Parts: sequence; C-alpha cells; structure tokens
Amino acid sequence: MSYIEFKGVKKIYHVGEVDIEALAGVDFSIDKGEFVIVAGASGAGKSTILNILGGMDTCSTGEIIVDGARVDQMNEKQLTDYRRYDIGFVFQFYNLVQNLTALENVELATQICKNPLDVNLTVEQVGLQDRKNNFPSQLSGGEQQRVAIARALAKNPKLLLCDEPTGALDYNTGKQVLKLLQDTCRTQGMTVVIITHNLALCPMGDKVIKVKNGKISSITVNENPVNVE
Ligand code: ADP
Ligand code: ADP
Repeated sequence: MSYIEFKGVKKIYHVGEVDIEALAGVDFSIDKGEFVIVAGASGAGKSTILNILGGMDTCSTGEIIVDGARVDQMNEKQLTDYRRYDIGFVFQFYNLVQNLTALENVELATQICKNPLDVNLTVEQVGLQDRKNNFPSQLSGGEQQRVAIARALAKNPKLLLCDEPTGALDYNTGKQVLKLLQDTCRTQGMTVVIITHNLALCPMGDKVIKVKNGKISSITVNENPVNVE
C-alpha cells in the first residue's frame, strides 16, 4: 500500500436540481516524501482533489488512504483532528492574520498542535529570521508566502498541501517559493502536493498528475525532476 491512495474517488456536488460531477472516478498513489504536481485547467477538479485529500471536503464514493488511515471513513471529529495535526495548508493568497507579526502567525498555528516544531527555527528555515517581527503588510508577497509555509510546517504535519502557492507571485519570487517547497521535501522528507494550472511547474515534480474534466488524464514519474535553482 502506498503512503497516499485515491481509489475510484467520485465527487458530485448537488446544486439545486443539478448534479455536478467534479470528480468522475480518480485513482492515484503518492509515496512518502514525494514532490507532486497536480496540474490542469480551471474547473478540472484540482481543488476538489486537494480539499478531499486534506479532509476539508468529503468524497461521494471511493477510498482515500493516508498513512494507513481511511480518510473517507472518518467522522467529523476525526476529520477535524486530521486537518489539525496531519495536514499543513498553503494557499494562493497566504491567509495570514494581519494584526499578528510573522512570528506570531506561526506561533498561533502551533498552539493547537500535538508536536509542534520550534517556531523560531522554522521561521529561520524559511529565511525570515530578519523579518519575523514584521506584520504581513510590511512584507512582500514572497515573504508572506514564506510565513504561510513556516506556519504550515511548524505544525509538523505529515503532508503539505499547496493550492496555487505561486499564483499571486511574479516569476522570480514564485521560483524562490517553489525552491523552498522542493528543498523542504528533499531535506525533511516532507510529502508535498502542489496544485497548479501552470504547466511550467510540471518538470519539477517527482510525480505529475494531470487532471481533465474530473478525470486523471496522465500520471508521469520524472526520473530526473528539475531542481529549482
Ligand atoms: P479546479 O481546482 O481544477 O479549478 P474545482 O475542483 O474547483 O476545479 O472544480 C471542479 C468542478 O466542480 C467545476 O465544474 C466546479 O464548478 C465544480 N465545483 C467545485 N466546487 C463546487 C461547489 N462547492 N459546488 C458546486 N460545484 C462545484
Ligand atoms: P517582491 O518583488 O518580492 O514582491 P517588494 O518589491 O514588494 O518585493 O519588496 C522588496 C523588499 O521591501 C522586501 O524585502 C520587503 O520585505 C520590503 N518591503 C516591502 N514593503 C514594505 C513595507 N511596507 N515595510 C517594510 N518593508 C517592506
């Protein structure tokens, strides 16, 4: 059994009288420590996959296994714990608390954790030691995303899930953020899943899962993934 498995996962949203099939039977597996890019056009089903993997949404049918646990069979309480302890989330628009400093944003996230990492060390690790007492409004976009990554990592999660993490950044800043995510995967053995509509990110993934119309259109394992420089 792989570290993560999606087996025959379907998701149907009921909107009034209409059923929208967001996922039409999705199968893939991810190994521990893999750097995974999930790519596809807008509306393909990427966010639905990420939300189901992260316990923020549930599937209609199918199996989701993460580190031996059946996520699809969890009750509300178990899903809350799963999101809280096992998953780190990084969003396109950072979602930082504006009236807390960088360091305080990271601290806040660790307060409800079982095994948080040292907050100062985590802030250092993302290269923000000189910026830790700044508020989000005093940081560039790339720096705010580093805070968001530190906040996710400080929880010491099993899995880091990133929703268009470079979508709001210019090319060079985005590249630096990607490098941080790839380095985190390499040096800490962190399993990282990134969803993006930007096909330029595909060569960097250990595994690339392409999604189209709620289905997997291809799964590629890169023997020599490009290292972000
Ligand atoms: P992507 O992330 O690739 O842009 P999504 O997973 O957001 O795609 O959406 C997949 C499909 O499911 C789209 O047709 C979208 O309109 C639909 N969808 C997503 N979320 C909802 C929702 N909460 N209610 C109804 N339809 C939804
Ligand atoms: P980027 O190209 O990464 O978005 P910016 O041009 O926004 O970078 O910012 C460049 C530098 O100036 C960054 O190190 C950032 O921390 C700093 N900076 C930007 N806005 C402020 C601010 N309001 N107060 C203090 N420092 C700032």
